Amino acid sequence: MKITFLGAAENVTGSKYLLEQENTKILVDCGLFQGTKEIRRRNWDKFPIKPESIDAVILTHAHIDHSGYIPAFVKNGFKGKIYCSKATLELCSILLPDSGSLQEEDAKAANKYGYSSHRPALPLYTLKDAEKSLKSFEVVDFEKSFSIGSFPSITLIPSHHILGSSFVVISDGNKKITFSGDLSRPNQLIMKDPTHLKKTDFLVLESTYGDRLHKKEDPVKEMGKIINRTVKKGGKIIIPAFAVGRTQTVLYCLYELKKNNAIPDIPIFLDSPMAIDVTDLLCKFKDEHKLSDELCHHICRIAKYTRSVEESKKIDAHEGSSIIIAGSGMVTGGRVLHHLKHFISDSKNTILFVGYQAEETRGRDLVNGEKRIMIHGKNFKVNAEIKKLDYFSAHADYNEILQWLSYFENKIEKVFVTHGEHESALSLKSKIEERFDWNTVVPKYLESFDLD
Ligand SMILES: [Zn+2]
Repeated sequence: MKITFLGAAENVTGSKYLLEQENTKILVDCGLFQGTKEIRRRNWDKFPIKPESIDAVILTHAHIDHSGYIPAFVKNGFKGKIYCSKATLELCSILLPDSGSLQEEDAKAANKYGYSSHRPALPLYTLKDAEKSLKSFEVVDFEKSFSIGSFPSITLIPSHHILGSSFVVISDGNKKITFSGDLSRPNQLIMKDPTHLKKTDFLVLESTYGDRLHKKEDPVKEMGKIINRTVKKGGKIIIPAFAVGRTQTVLYCLYELKKNNAIPDIPIFLDSPMAIDVTDLLCKFKDEHKLSDELCHHICRIAKYTRSVEESKKIDAHEGSSIIIAGSGMVTGGRVLHHLKHFISDSKNTILFVGYQAEETRGRDLVNGEKRIMIHGKNFKVNAEIKKLDYFSAHADYNEILQWLSYFENKIEKVFVTHGEHESALSLKSKIEERFDWNTVVPKYLESFDLD
């Protein structure tokens, strides 16, 4: 068995791991590179191996940095099936077409304003490409192993990072390799604890927070404090949030706060058609989270849903305090930009971040205290209060990762630390070696390892 790291090596995005055994080639995850220009350029590079030579793709979960390259991959010649859990397919059916539309919009804007070096700028893939790629998906049940070519057993185990997320365990008949996908945390508000695994020979492990510990805070209480302080000033609270996972957790917190009369009864707007669709899925996949039917129902109704652009525009005209949840989570695009244009220069308002902010994003700049920000070619002064709540991460911190690792009962032959910025990955590597005495490496982009 041989593994090659085609993404998420010394960085957080573009997860793609090629696994080869005899003549069979499997790609685990097929994610989009996101973040800095230099990293994003890799999406346009010629794929390191002919897509048509790969037999199958297996997805750990639907987040775009794990699935978002699929339409390009199919467009460039991949002919096999894409295996994933049922909820992953449902989420991809929402996320991939949206990603295609965004690519088209970006290309259009680049051509209009002339900020691309390519003339004309083209989308990496289109809405149509994304829709076409969904036809190659095949749903597999959790915990039911299946085979592909020289790999006699492939199993998805629920990992509870988001709906549908899975640990992928692949055996070549002799040795087992496990892919963590994104490793979630115990005691989350909505999702169940990550499943504990007992045995694997090799492990590909994420390290987003490999050098950090999450703050121990009560997210509901902290959010309540921020909302009350803003309402007292007569301001609005803008929450940039990812459609999948984070938005639903934010809605849960707001429901708790309102139920306990801990915040005033101000309107809450969920201004993201995609997040609305995803929130509805919560009630469909009840096995993967902890919410009762009733609670699910309440959460889905705590916010006013705004689907159309007209409705979205009306939100900004609403007088008095309100809470606006809109994408994108790192303020790189989406409807949240329109709300920021209206509200970021007024010190009454608060912009509340609830997720990881990657390098070279507006979100990272704002969290770092940037005082001016460009939106749609215009410069805005940042007077609103900028806050970030750390609790909401759906990624384990290093203590939580080590705790999850401690459930393995055998000595792991080799741990590959991926999906983390250089420092995070190195820091986690040394912690694992110190605690478990397992051989641990931080693979480089395009590096291969023989596992026999
Ligand atoms: Zn994820």
